[in-house]
Amino acid sequence: MAPWASDPARSRGRRIAEPEAPTRTAFQRDRDRIVHSSAFRRLVYKTQVFLNHEGDLFRTRLTHSLEVAQLGRSMARSLRLNEDLVEAIALAHDLGHTPFGHAGQDALDACMRDCGGFEHNLQSLRVVDRLEQRYPEWDGLNLCFETREGILKRCPKPLAERLELREPGGVGARFIHGEQPSLEAQLTNLADEIAYNAHDIDDGVRSGLLSMEALREVPLFARFDAEVRVSHPALEATAPRRHLAEVVRRMLSEQVYDVIAASELRLQALAPPDVAAVRRAPPLIRFSPQMREASASLKRFLFKSLYRHPQVQSQTERGRQIVQELFEIYRRDPACLPLEFRSPQPSARGIADYIAGMTDRYAINEHQRLTGRSLFPGTR
Ligand code: MG
Repeated sequence: MAPWASDPARSRGRRIAEPEAPTRTAFQRDRDRIVHSSAFRRLVYKTQVFLNHEGDLFRTRLTHSLEVAQLGRSMARSLRLNEDLVEAIALAHDLGHTPFGHAGQDALDACMRDCGGFEHNLQSLRVVDRLEQRYPEWDGLNLCFETREGILKRCPKPLAERLELREPGGVGARFIHGEQPSLEAQLTNLADEIAYNAHDIDDGVRSGLLSMEALREVPLFARFDAEVRVSHPALEATAPRRHLAEVVRRMLSEQVYDVIAASELRLQALAPPDVAAVRRAPPLIRFSPQMREASASLKRFLFKSLYRHPQVQSQTERGRQIVQELFEIYRRDPACLPLEFRSPQPSARGIADYIAGMTDRYAINEHQRLTGRSLFPGTR
């Protein structure tokens, strides 16, 4: 590993000290704890863009997280960073997502406006720090600082100040001092972006909401689409899915190579002696300026054409309504909550934790049970 990589033997440790595992590094152990958590299993039924019941082949939060881990590991290996830490962060990065994607989060944030708000990055941290109940002596998974730091991808300053009160010099500190996280955390962020840009194109075309004609407006897509039409002229007409898969594969590879080359250049130029120097430096894992612009333009296209598509919006609008109504019902009538969330008077935060932990279909069914109305008829 490179001198700027995170070394598990020099981890800043766990909040509660534990003896080392005999056969695994601290970061491998974190990854394993995440995979065995119940929040991780629930990702399979949580929306990425398309609701889970819309089709079996669309990405869910789980398959998205696996794709992020795969891309992240392969870039980490080239850059001689710690693959296990990247994998742990990638598999945990979306644990705090509510049902129904960002619409669910926004609804819960609005419900919690007077009680500290709701934000999915902070919730992911809350899941691994407190909400998982698997150990006799402590709440949460007791992960290493480096894994927790990577999970808390973003944090508004006022919230970071609150975290800092509870954990001085902890995972909130960098948002106050304007520092960077480890290179592994920076890399996982970028792997997340590369993964969803690519798989949302694939899911968008599969769903019929994105057309190839529209996608050709995006320079990055158009470039590889043209390449594939030259190397395999008949493919689009005879096997359109293979054509698309080949375009997306080439696009993905190009972005991965770009990150590796651009980051390698910056790392060699700056040669940070250790991880502490990485944290004080500007972000070192990044696209080249040209790829940054190409990726931004792809993202703008997906926003306009897919995430804001009336059909996607109508689904997410119903999701938003379910989250909001569930919150109101539990606030009004705590007897509707499971026993462990009730005692003695449920807090707004406890209700938010409960709702955020729901899968799409659990929320749909729970809403139907409590209101007698079905906003997604036919969901099992
Ligand atoms: Mg993600």
